[in-house]
Amino acid sequence: MIRVINLIFTVTFIFVPQIFTNALLYAENTPKNIILMIGDGMGSSHIKAAKLKKRGENGLLSMQKLDIHGYIRTLSANGEITDSAAAATAMATGTKTNNEIIGKDPDYNNLKNILEYAEKYGKSTGIVTTVQLTHATPAAFATHVRNRYQMEKIALQMMHKNIEVLFGGGENYFLPENQKGCFTGEGKRDDGNNLINKAVKNGYIYVCTKQELKNLDTSITNRVLGLFGAEEIKRPIKPNLALLTKKAVKILSNDPDGFFLMVEAGQIDWASHENNAANMLNSMLQFDKAVKTAYQFSQSSETLLIVISDHQTGKFEITPDKRSLFADGPFYMPDGTKFFIQWNSDEHTADKVKIFASGTNSEMFKGTHENTYIFDVIYRSLKTKN
Ligand SMILES: [Zn+2]
Repeated sequence: MIRVINLIFTVTFIFVPQIFTNALLYAENTPKNIILMIGDGMGSSHIKAAKLKKRGENGLLSMQKLDIHGYIRTLSANGEITDSAAAATAMATGTKTNNEIIGKDPDYNNLKNILEYAEKYGKSTGIVTTVQLTHATPAAFATHVRNRYQMEKIALQMMHKNIEVLFGGGENYFLPENQKGCFTGEGKRDDGNNLINKAVKNGYIYVCTKQELKNLDTSITNRVLGLFGAEEIKRPIKPNLALLTKKAVKILSNDPDGFFLMVEAGQIDWASHENNAANMLNSMLQFDKAVKTAYQFSQSSETLLIVISDHQTGKFEITPDKRSLFADGPFYMPDGTKFFIQWNSDEHTADKVKIFASGTNSEMFKGTHENTYIFDVIYRSLKTKN
């Protein structure tokens, strides 16, 4: 089945002429700040299910209240259903690559990413995720490796990028073998490097608990590394994504030149691979809360806010009754109406995903675009000021 779908989409991808607006023009306006929020694995049905749970049939999630709505095509360079590495590389660098490759083209040439351009233009930068900082999506916004599973290498590169805010999990990849950090388990680095100690020597504040994060004086914090799990940030996710986003935005706002921030809700994808609808809905609503935080900030600042997904994970239908063994539920809308999540797949799909945007240049996202177009708009939005 997957093969047939794959073939259909490969054919479509190669033979149907598409109008690209890839010319890297200068934008007329430049926002001061850019916040890109990625719900990993978030398809249209994920958004609908979360909306039903939180707001019911007639309500809207915070992300749905953004001004501009559009669609993004997600296939990777060779027309395959994408993984997170190829999708994030496309969004971060404007070039499609093959699955599992991070920040490089299919011939393994390095591709300059948005974060590197933002740093070049004097902006502060930040990466926030609920999975390992070294996981595919955050990795593609900062680093260049042949394979997404080279997580020790990703951590090393990440710490040499002058990124002001790094929040996520994955402490193990920052510590040498036989060394313990804040969490159970031991480091995984075989090069003897303690990247946390090195970061502190280079002026980073290190935090690993919600309380430490809360206590952080954002007005005087220039650089911070926050690792809140040995691997992913374990459920119930603490600190939650909204708090991580809020703190990141506050710290990055100290830069008068503005900032670029990427925020990923990484566990929507994980819960969907597991066909665990309760966790999926929880991650979706946490993500939406983080979007609300960013949206509130964007309203009082010159900020382009983009909310997007890298691909859909786990096809499902929303039904009023239980129809098979693969149904999760019941879940309830605020008015008490029951619904079930009827899983049909635990894999990524080729479906288009939704994009929501607000602020300066957000109108550029109207319509349907390739995932590389995210880079195009951000790049143009960075450029005019310089
Ligand atoms: Zn993904």
